[in-house]
This record gives sequence, structure tokens and C-alpha cells, in this order.
Amino acid sequence: MKVRLILIVLIAGLATSLQAQQTYIHAGYLFDGTGEEMRSNVTIIVDGDRIVEVQDGFLRPDSESSLIDLSNRTVLPGLIDLHVHLENETGPSRYLDRFTKNPEDVAFESSLYAKRTLMAGFTTVRDLGGSGVNTSLRDAIRAGYVEGPRVISVGKSLATTGGHADPTNSFKRDLMGSPGPELGVVNGEVEAREAVRQNYKLGVDHIKITATGGVLSVAKSGQNPQFMNDELQAIVETARDYEMHVAAHAHGKEGMLRAVKAGVHTIEHGTYMDEEVIQAMVDHGTYYVPTITAGKFVAEKAEVDGYYPPLVVPKAREIGPLIQNTFAEAYRYGVKIAFGTDAGVFHHGDNAQEFGYMVEVGMPEAEALLSATQTASAVLGLEDQIGSVEAGKLADIIAVDGNPLRDISTLENVRFVMKEGVVYKHD
Ligand SMILES: [Zn+2]
Repeated sequence: MKVRLILIVLIAGLATSLQAQQTYIHAGYLFDGTGEEMRSNVTIIVDGDRIVEVQDGFLRPDSESSLIDLSNRTVLPGLIDLHVHLENETGPSRYLDRFTKNPEDVAFESSLYAKRTLMAGFTTVRDLGGSGVNTSLRDAIRAGYVEGPRVISVGKSLATTGGHADPTNSFKRDLMGSPGPELGVVNGEVEAREAVRQNYKLGVDHIKITATGGVLSVAKSGQNPQFMNDELQAIVETARDYEMHVAAHAHGKEGMLRAVKAGVHTIEHGTYMDEEVIQAMVDHGTYYVPTITAGKFVAEKAEVDGYYPPLVVPKAREIGPLIQNTFAEAYRYGVKIAFGTDAGVFHHGDNAQEFGYMVEVGMPEAEALLSATQTASAVLGLEDQIGSVEAGKLADIIAVDGNPLRDISTLENVRFVMKEGVVYKHD
């Protein structure tokens, strides 16, 4: 009897919550992500996971609906970071972790990083490379098992033998072996196609390649080209068949230029880009994802004894500090810039430091914010779903104190986070 009564109460409760119960948000200021203006005294009405109305003035909610008072705060669209690695985080044991951690260890750890990222105001991230746990993490978050941002996953990065994302770089010979397309290592067009299709089969959203050497792999060069034109072409064309775009990690000029000409969607880091590369990017409409924060962080840690293996230290010292300047040049030339940090190379949750570095060398605050909202959503092809606070969009909404157009560092202290209409943080 008692059980039946509880059931009736539960069902009745469920029924009322299914009625048109909406949430009204009073925003003192609103940067809505559609342009550079700041609006004041705005009401945002959320129904379920969507924004249904954005109106001037503070509207009173009806008796069915609830009110979230952010009238003393600045409200913005949930932020988007196009370059994170949620599976791991920087630390001196990082290289050893490959031998000591099982995928389930990585999974539990990554759930913590995902939560930290969400609490920092990033409601969407593109995970640009891991072991495949990143793709499962995406699904676990989507299913509600884990709290975190919406994840767009590339699974495992593609590399050539000995390239930046070859998973057995620096191992002793008997462990090194010669991994192939199933582990994301390709040589020649046939394997390039196979690896893209294998990734499709594994359920990834997009493709990442390491077009040049990189800083943190235990390998000599941080910038040499690592794919031939025919391999790049094969990857980009195959990816297109599956409606996936290609993100290219690149530091050195030659590898970057080849990748741009082959039609990759984004260049990550872009350290040694010069006028020729910049012009090619403008011509091809390639987006630049700078990752200044990671560059600064690795340069700093290179000075800590034993933090990185000896082969990595000179690369971190040399390449890391250059990225901010590259960003400034690219911005002046009018390259399309989309926000991305390489979080994981530094601590998850510190993603918003990137804004300060962008503003410091000449990008106006409003443009920096648009790079992490409007522009980033366009890179993902999700501009009709996320990236702005507008009727019809998913209710990804954050709030900060003060005015980020005057003091961008306020983004480093996000006070309110809503994702798809659910409140995850409200200080
Ligand atoms: Zn990265």
C-alpha cells in the first residue's frame, strides 16, 4: 500500500515537471555571441534543453516557472575549446603512465578532467587525441553517467611511422614494433584511407593528423614535415566522404603548407607559419587554433629539472614561447582564428587563460570571446545549435562577475554554468 502511494506521488511529481515549466534567467549584462555588443537587463527563457526566448527587460516568471537571478552578472554563451586532451594531464610521470595505467584508470581520471572543464565554463570541447577513451567519455557524458562538456572526439590522432602521434615512439625495440593503421600509424595512401575508415568505424566525429613533429613526443624534431602530399590528400578526401573534417597539428612551415593545400579544416599551434602559409590559409579558408597557453606552459616547465625527458626539453624551450607571436601575426593578417588551448598539456580548467594571452597581443576582448563562441561553433558545423544565446539554440549559458569586455581575466572565474538547460554550477 505504502509503495503504491509513493509511486502515485512520484508519477504526479513527474507529470508536473513535464508541464511547460520554464526557467527565466535575468541577465544584468548579456554578451550573446551574435556580435560584439553588450546588452543590459535581458531575460532569457529556457524550456527543457533549449532557449525559447531572449527579451529586453526583466520579465516576471509565471507561477509554474522558476527564476535564476543573474542580474548582477554578465551572461555569455557556454564557451567552446577546440583543442583539449581529456584523457590525461601534464605531470612528470606522464611518460611512465603509458605503461602503468589501464584504459579504465584513464577513464576514471578523464571524468574528473571533464568535470573541471565544464565547471570552468566550457560546455563544448573538441578532444584532439587520446586512445579512444575520449570517444567513450563523449558517450558517457551524453548519456548522463558523467558530468562534463559536450565532447566532439577525434579518437586517436593519425601519424606516420615515428611521427608525433606514433604511440610507440621512444620505446625499446621489442616493445616498439611497427604499429599500423589500427593504431593510427599510416604510410602511403592505402593505409591513410584505411585509418580514416577505421576511425569512422570506431565512431569518432572528426580526424586529427600530426602534420609535423611536435614538442612533447620523445623524438628529435619538433617541426619536420611528416606526411607526403598523397597521404594528406587521401586523408582529407576520405574524411570528407564520412562528413568528417581534418584538424592538423603543425609547427614547421613545410608540413603546415602541405596540410593547408590538401584542405585540412584547422591548423593547430601553427608556430612557424610565415606570410606564404598565412596567405594559403586565407585562400583556403583554413581556421587557425593557436593554443598559446600550452606553448607558455611547456616553455616554463622545460626549466624544471626532470619534468620532461631530455629530448623534449630543447623543443619546449624553443617552440613554446613563439606561439603567442605567431597568433599576433596571424590575427593582423586576417586569418580566421578559433579558440583552442591544448588543455591536458597544462591543467584542465585553466583553459580561459588563453583569452588573456590573446588580448595581451592585440585581439580586442569581444573578438576573443567570439572566437570561443560564434567562430568555434562554425568550425564544428554546430552554429545552429551552440555558440550564442538565441531562441532555438541549446541552453548552454554561463555567467561571470564584472565586464569581460573591460577585464577579460574574469573569464577565469566562471560563477554559473548551465548546459542543455541543466544548472551545474551557481555560486
Ligand atoms: Zn594537442
